[in-house]
Amino acid sequence: MTAEPTAPAAPAAPPTAPAAPTDGPPTERTAVRRLPDRGRYDRATIHAILDAGFIAHVGITADTPDGPMPVVIPTAYGRVGDTLYIHGSPASRLLRTLKQGVPMCVTVTLVDGLVLARSAFHHSINYRSVVLFGTGVEVTDPAAKAAALAAFVDHVVPGRSAEVRPTDEKELRGTTVLALPIDEASAKVRTGPPIDEERDLDRDVWAGVLPLALVPVAAPVPDPLLAPATPVPGYITGWSRD
Ligand SMILES: Cc1cc2nc3c(=O)[nH]c(=O)nc-3n(C[C@H](O)[C@H](O)[C@H](O)COP(=O)(O)OP(=O)(O)OC[C@H]3O[C@@H](n4cnc5c(N)ncnc54)[C@H](O)[C@@H]3O)c2cc1C
Repeated sequence: MTAEPTAPAAPAAPPTAPAAPTDGPPTERTAVRRLPDRGRYDRATIHAILDAGFIAHVGITADTPDGPMPVVIPTAYGRVGDTLYIHGSPASRLLRTLKQGVPMCVTVTLVDGLVLARSAFHHSINYRSVVLFGTGVEVTDPAAKAAALAAFVDHVVPGRSAEVRPTDEKELRGTTVLALPIDEASAKVRTGPPIDEERDLDRDVWAGVLPLALVPVAAPVPDPLLAPATPVPGYITGWSRD
């Protein structure tokens, strides 16, 4: 198989990077070379993909016992304006490394469908993905950090931060927050049916797209310790990602 055949606002404004040139032409390293017609570089497309996702794979070159090695770590993220936030324990190797200003590559992938062709070779996947390069800056100001964490929660579950206890001082001290400007990024998007060869079009086999999406698979399951009369908020019953 080949995929390449042919809410409510945050309670306070977290720090954001200066206006970023995401809408400009691609850089040497963001220019999509393989199937370039699938490449997008505009801020609206990149932000929309980042907003539809909340899991990123963060690639760094890390010091390992075998020497410097590429390491890719999955993690949650939030976006506010032209800034992507990741967070974690101060003990995390990823966060400790990134705090030192080590360059990172962040990838976000959304799978929109299985593309079923009439030949094994032309099977594909409909997707939207973003690749973002940059260097993170640690958010240290406690108010900015708290706001970034609230925005982070709202990125995943819009509306949630207004209802829950805000992060307290001890929790803030126990969390590293890293801001990455979204100013060198590419998106790549595949849509549509399989691209089959003429010689296969008469084959007696189903072909088309099986649409996929990230959706809840069952009703929300209440915590056993939840007071029985507690209603499920609309932002949970109506949770969806575009
Ligand atoms: C769910 C999914 C499944 C895929 N499956 C396959 C597969 O099985 N086989 C395969 O060959 N390819 C697959 N792709 C496409 C793959 O991501 C690459 O685009 C492709 O392999 C070309 O890689 P490259 O290094 O030659 O890219 P190049 O075009 O040389 O990359 C240059 C620059 O383009 C940008 N870029 C490249 N790919 C992407 C992307 N996907 N999203 C955003 N920016 C990008 C980056 O900034 C990169 O630095 C898949 C993509 C997704 C999202």
